[in-house]
Amino acid sequence: MKLKTFKKGVHPEEYKFLSEHKTLERLPIPEEVFIPVHQHIGAPCRPLVEKGQTVKTGEIIGQSTGFVSSPIHATISGTVKTIDNFPHPLGINGLMIHITGDGKDEWIKSFDETSNWENLLTDEIVDLVQKAGIVGLGGAAFPTHVKLSPSKEKKIDTFVLNGCECEPYLTADHRMMVEQSEEVALGTRILMKALNVSRGVIGVENNKPDAIAAMEKATSAFNNIEVIPLKVKYPQGAEKMLIKAVINRNVPTGGLPLDVGVVVNNVGTAIAVAEAVTKNKPLIERVVSITGDGIKEPKNVIARIGTPFQNLIDFCGGLTDNTVKIIMGGPMMGITQHTLNVPVIKATSGILCLTDLSVIKHKEYPCIQCGTCIGACPMNLLPTRLARFAQVENWQMAEDLGILNCVECGSCAFVCPSQIPLVQRIRIGKLRINEMKRKAKLATV
Ligand code: SF4
Ligand code: SF4
Repeated sequence: MKLKTFKKGVHPEEYKFLSEHKTLERLPIPEEVFIPVHQHIGAPCRPLVEKGQTVKTGEIIGQSTGFVSSPIHATISGTVKTIDNFPHPLGINGLMIHITGDGKDEWIKSFDETSNWENLLTDEIVDLVQKAGIVGLGGAAFPTHVKLSPSKEKKIDTFVLNGCECEPYLTADHRMMVEQSEEVALGTRILMKALNVSRGVIGVENNKPDAIAAMEKATSAFNNIEVIPLKVKYPQGAEKMLIKAVINRNVPTGGLPLDVGVVVNNVGTAIAVAEAVTKNKPLIERVVSITGDGIKEPKNVIARIGTPFQNLIDFCGGLTDNTVKIIMGGPMMGITQHTLNVPVIKATSGILCLTDLSVIKHKEYPCIQCGTCIGACPMNLLPTRLARFAQVENWQMAEDLGILNCVECGSCAFVCPSQIPLVQRIRIGKLRINEMKRKAKLATV
């Protein structure tokens, strides 16, 4: 049978074998955590605690400051040591609540399972998801309650669960689908109820046959949920590509999945939603793949948010002597780290450790006009021209050619024979254009 997929894209070496069979392990409770007030798309949180205050695990410590925002919770019990700027994995110094643990991991409440989620109203489910601080755990960190609150004009008919995990190396979603398939299925049903849709689709790339089998079994009692195996291709986990692959709908240029009646969520998000709605449990931990040839023992671990990367590296036996690069996320869209003193945040899907053998030393050559980048771009853009206009700061031309539609998948840079850092230049261009737009908007207020 021909597997479904989207047009264009690339197929980088997968390297999943390093950790795909490693069962989930729970990291020991850390002695201290650094919890950023900003770890989601949207407005940062306002701290609700003060230096010296004692907190319990699961206690709210930062309140949302807008609709597109998400609260944060204490992930260990202990004392707030300080609220200050610390290194953030997004490459900045960010405000964080530093908690030193009391070693008790005392929770704010017990999370006894409730059985009547099916009687909850849509608004009640969305409220529980918001209060639990749930954001997209695939890496985008967009607040989930916002996705579950489409405007009345947008008729949503399909929920798509993203089980692609198309980035090379990463295996966190894979392990969750294999080991926590019932929770993933429950979260899928809750998300479908919150959106009032009768159709659920789970897209999983065909390099995870055990995950496909587990999800088929976990959803076998529900005729309205279909598991669709997909051809392995990058960036199939990007929402627009996934929607095209599983239900053959085209999200318009500049549009959102909502415009074609779809909401997409990730596997980890579905589990977090299930825990929030059935147990009223906040998001205080996530699954992280620690992998690459630069880590002694690759693993998939459940780590408390705010745990320093160093703890996870130590738990995996440490770095190899020739490790030269650490990335948060995968090699295509991840963010290079310059210190291990950064905390796990809600968006930390993986910590990739690469050696001097695996890191390609890029020497850039002139563009040979081969058009390969155009052939790879899943958004039908002209990467070579976008990168050029961004480099010469011709913002108008870059915008006219659709630079803001770039999903920053990195496929263009991956295939470029001249090793031109196309996506890096396009990313900088997008940042500058968005910044100018924000300033222009502020000036008119
Ligand atoms: S231009 Fe953007 S969307 Fe197109 S391949 Fe490059 S990074 Fe991906
Ligand atoms: S793939 Fe590289 S060399 Fe070829 S057209 Fe694009 S930027 Fe130029």
